[in-house]
Amino acid sequence: MLAEIKGLNEECGVFAIWGHEKAAEMTYYGLHALQHRGQEGAGIVTTDGEKLNVHKGVGLINDVFSEGEVSRLQGHAAIGHVRYATQGGGGFENVQPLVFRSQTNSMALAHNGNLVNAHALKNQLEAQGSILQTTSDTEVIAHLVKRSGNVPMEEAISSALGMIKGAYAFSILTEDQLFIGLDPRGLRPLSIGRLGDAYVVASETCAFDLIGATYEREVKPGELIVIDDDGFRTKQFTSPMQRTLCSMEYVYFSRPDSDLNEKNVHASRKTMGKQLANESPIEADVVTGVPDSSISAAIGFSEATGIPYELGLIKNRYVGRTFIQPSQELREQGVKMKLSAVRGIVEGKRVVMVDDSIVRGTTSRRIVRLLKEAGATEVHVRIASPPIQNPCYYGIDTSTKGELIAANNSIEEMREIIGADTLSFLSTEGLEASIVEDRDRMQHGVCQACFTGNYPTEIYPDTVIPAYKD
Ligand code: SF4
Repeated sequence: MLAEIKGLNEECGVFAIWGHEKAAEMTYYGLHALQHRGQEGAGIVTTDGEKLNVHKGVGLINDVFSEGEVSRLQGHAAIGHVRYATQGGGGFENVQPLVFRSQTNSMALAHNGNLVNAHALKNQLEAQGSILQTTSDTEVIAHLVKRSGNVPMEEAISSALGMIKGAYAFSILTEDQLFIGLDPRGLRPLSIGRLGDAYVVASETCAFDLIGATYEREVKPGELIVIDDDGFRTKQFTSPMQRTLCSMEYVYFSRPDSDLNEKNVHASRKTMGKQLANESPIEADVVTGVPDSSISAAIGFSEATGIPYELGLIKNRYVGRTFIQPSQELREQGVKMKLSAVRGIVEGKRVVMVDDSIVRGTTSRRIVRLLKEAGATEVHVRIASPPIQNPCYYGIDTSTKGELIAANNSIEEMREIIGADTLSFLSTEGLEASIVEDRDRMQHGVCQACFTGNYPTEIYPDTVIPAYKD
């Protein structure tokens, strides 16, 4: 589905490398593979052992970096970040990695996720005299680290991690050390790989493939990794908890060629489509998926039912982001420019339209209309995830409850609103079974809080919902 018009957005992508003579270049390529996780800002910080070098800016990676800027970033280690502006809003000051310089040492920090107690921590820090320069909660982590005083960085970071709550996958670079950490529930994805003798870390394994690195393992929930000239060390900063990796990573956000928790995203989506077909079968002539993220589920639906899969909807590539427009009328036009129904495929046919999720319903309504205008006689909408009824507090912009169509309408009401002939969603059990193997269920659960309302962490009364965008 098309994130810009759907109102469902990932917050960030993180990349890090240690022990490579072209660290900045590798990070630049790694960030390209993660560009789908954030298009509003990008940055790279390297260390040459004596000082941190930084370049970052607002926009796509290609807007922010030229060849000269990448080669200027000298050093054997780097961290990089792409961001979508939810928590803290847009603007240059919030583009990561954030860099903090002091007389003793400097520190750069890149983070994916949302802290659920950031608001309380900010108040506490300000009351104690800290001056926050950004509106991002990432800065809170940095202040907590700095506040520990003259202790080794590893200790300072561990102490800061004891105070923050929520979802975070982060990298911290100093002049001579790289730190990698994941929240105690492992809500956000983070993997470790090797590139020759170098260590690499990325939000998604597709970044490893692009630079020729090999996957080693997932960062464990509650794990803090330290990499420096003495090698690779790891420790648990909390006692082990069951992992609850975000199920929307499998449904929608991650690239189909990535593996999360050693499970391929495309394969998981296909299983979701099969499961959906088993739960909500329908008689029809063709199955089509809403490009790009729903195609895998549509193929699964087709395989399970024997109804042929066809490219009934085509994404119009090269349509710029300038088409994101606030007015309803221009939004309608925007969808027409981003998607086309293929008349030769759908005319006179009963069409199953598989989509990954419904947020506000406006996009689904437009696509159903596109298919009907192109001559489809019936449009049966099948959604490869359960209804989104609750906001996400962990770094995904799913809108507030009032804007979520499923929070305010029954399935029959939603069917009527979007103009479909039938509408069905995948069950929460079906989604979990598509992602998690039975044998793994004890260790690797998934978060489904936006569907069920069962949040895997404490939610504070002043927990900030990421700002709604679009
Ligand atoms: S609430 Fe939903 S979007 Fe947020 S982490 Fe959980 S599954 Fe992912």
